[in-house]
Amino acid sequence: MDTRAFKRSLHDSGNYHRKGFGHSEDVNQKLQGEYQSSLIQQIRDRGYTWQEGDVTIRLAEAFGFCWGVERAVALAYETRQHFPTERIWITNEIIHNPSVNQQLRQMQVEFIPVINGIKDFSEVQSGDVVILPAFGASVQEMQLLNDRRCTIVDTTCPWVSKVWHSVEKHKKVEFTSIIHGKYNHEETIATSSFAGTYLIVLNLEQAQYVCDYILQGGDRQDFLAKFANAHSDGFDPDVDLERIGVANQTTMLKGETEQIGKLFERTLIRKYGPDQINAHFQSFNTICDATQERQDAMFELVDEALDLMVVIGGYNSSNTTHLQEIAIERGIPSYHIDGADRIGPGNQVEHKPLNQSLIVTEDWLPPGPLTLGITSGASTPDKVVADVLEKIFALKASPLPV
Ligand code: SF4
Repeated sequence: MDTRAFKRSLHDSGNYHRKGFGHSEDVNQKLQGEYQSSLIQQIRDRGYTWQEGDVTIRLAEAFGFCWGVERAVALAYETRQHFPTERIWITNEIIHNPSVNQQLRQMQVEFIPVINGIKDFSEVQSGDVVILPAFGASVQEMQLLNDRRCTIVDTTCPWVSKVWHSVEKHKKVEFTSIIHGKYNHEETIATSSFAGTYLIVLNLEQAQYVCDYILQGGDRQDFLAKFANAHSDGFDPDVDLERIGVANQTTMLKGETEQIGKLFERTLIRKYGPDQINAHFQSFNTICDATQERQDAMFELVDEALDLMVVIGGYNSSNTTHLQEIAIERGIPSYHIDGADRIGPGNQVEHKPLNQSLIVTEDWLPPGPLTLGITSGASTPDKVVADVLEKIFALKASPLPV
């Protein structure tokens, strides 16, 4: 499919919007009230440090709502204001944050139901308004909504669109896109729909496996089983790994994406020689600035003497999970929570250890003075961070045995 031509015709149709509707002043006021926090602003103003009783907070110098998320949420609010009576849908969570998604539900924005793992668009009618979230939607979904004559409000972050352009460039020159990402993440599902031949690798270990296959060959069936659900239809590792372009989910660990790119480049140089590398390898840097800044700030924070780290963000938020990985690598006890409700009753916390299900840990806040590192993912409002801090302050100030 010529995805570029489809996007051009969609953008030219009268039913497609990706800019606001002129209600930004009203909407900004609402967003301030719902998502900002004066406590967090004060902590920023005081050099990202705060002391209250026994607790010293060290806040990462880049955290929370990124530009792309703010833009997507504002556009969704503007959509509600602009279409007060129309039925409004969203194809997925707008961002990976439960409180923001709940707020949209309260504004009668409906989420496309998912039945047995498959989205059910049967209720969506001509004339309905459909919002595409910050991490985009697949080209097939856009096509379906366009065919059904829906009004589409596209909040896809421009950084995500940049990755789509990269894989379209690979497709144009018949290169296979190696996408560093999670095959079942909405953004990567959307990105792969714009690619031609593609393979999704989760991490450096999977990339190494592919590179070993490129150099030494291997069992084709084992390869396909290892990457089940993570490649384009008809993908053949014996044919489709000769010319490669690297792309990524915007929220992966930046260092890992770079290592993966270099690994493929070195591998193809070994196989085809340095003078042939441009005929076999392409790479564009598509890690977004916000992800990079939050990861860099986290690397600085974990260099400090912290007793423990609280990472706040949706459990399905890829960039939040990567922030937690950084704390774990440094051996700092870390708790990933998605909001203040996970704390308590008493000195307990319900949290999600990396790659595990939720667990409850008792006596998580030690007694006496405590230095706490705090960060939050790109889809977490300041207000959620403030609520977590208030709860921790109250807990440490209470007569509970903490
Ligand atoms: S994390 Fe990056 S790609 Fe994702 S919405 Fe924010 S700015 Fe856009």
